[in-house]
Amino acid sequence: MYYIGRFAPSPTGPLHAGSLVAALASYLDARAHQGRWLIRIEDIDETRTIAGAADDIIHTLSALGMETDEPIIWQSQRQSRYEAAFLELGNKVYPCACSRKEIADSRVSLSNDGAAIYPGTCRTGLAEGRSARAWRLRVPNAGDALDEIEFNDRWQGPVCESLSASVGDFVLRRADGFWAYQLAVVVDDADQEITHIVRGADLLESTARQIYLQRLLNKKTPHYLHVPVITNDRGEKLSKQTGAQALDSSQPVSALLAATKALELGIKAEAINSVQTFFEAAVPAWARRFGK
Ligand code: GLU
Repeated sequence: MYYIGRFAPSPTGPLHAGSLVAALASYLDARAHQGRWLIRIEDIDETRTIAGAADDIIHTLSALGMETDEPIIWQSQRQSRYEAAFLELGNKVYPCACSRKEIADSRVSLSNDGAAIYPGTCRTGLAEGRSARAWRLRVPNAGDALDEIEFNDRWQGPVCESLSASVGDFVLRRADGFWAYQLAVVVDDADQEITHIVRGADLLESTARQIYLQRLLNKKTPHYLHVPVITNDRGEKLSKQTGAQALDSSQPVSALLAATKALELGIKAEAINSVQTFFEAAVPAWARRFGK
């Protein structure tokens, strides 16, 4: 099967037990399909990038036996590609003057990622005396057939989402001038011809927006698989913000085995004594569960 997968970390801190689960799942899926696996560094939001974190992630992955099959691309070097896609969207994007507070105060309702759904204030043009902060993509109106995005997630099952009800018109170019993740990820996945996206379930709620953008830009929609996110004892997603510890890459086998538990692969730890024997067991176990 023609297969290209990827792991696309944001370099906001070192790899931790939670991000390793997403990395490992994407790697196992690529190997189970005899496909290629790419690392892409999503450093588009320079305000969140931590110096040295990308190299640290790449080295940790390598210590755990996961190496990219192609040279790594960095989003910070691809601004012109995002701009080209943005221009291609023509009048589907419009300038928006609203501040976060104005949108929150409009109390339309909360979107699926907890932000307020955009009430459409600037949809028909900027009010007099107001200037553009961000640029938004117009989503179809409720009831329009294009508003409902359906896809089958290989882990989560069928998903159906109405863009107008769940997010509303969303930002492609941010008020601080950075390209939004939603645009950058769609352009990169298309340019790298990614056929299969395997990532954490926290991104399930972004997928409908990304499929909509793929349709507008005439790009293929990849297959999706969203693995459960790992939480700490307080039920929070493991992340740098919630105090996740950097992985100890001097103990690669135990880090890999711990990540496999979250993936429910049922690997017998006793038989694993090296990174190599780990993958010899894990790749077929993944293939049995998710196909090859
Ligand atoms: N860079 C995103 C993150 O680290 C992941 C993007 C993706 O896999 O689509 O959360």
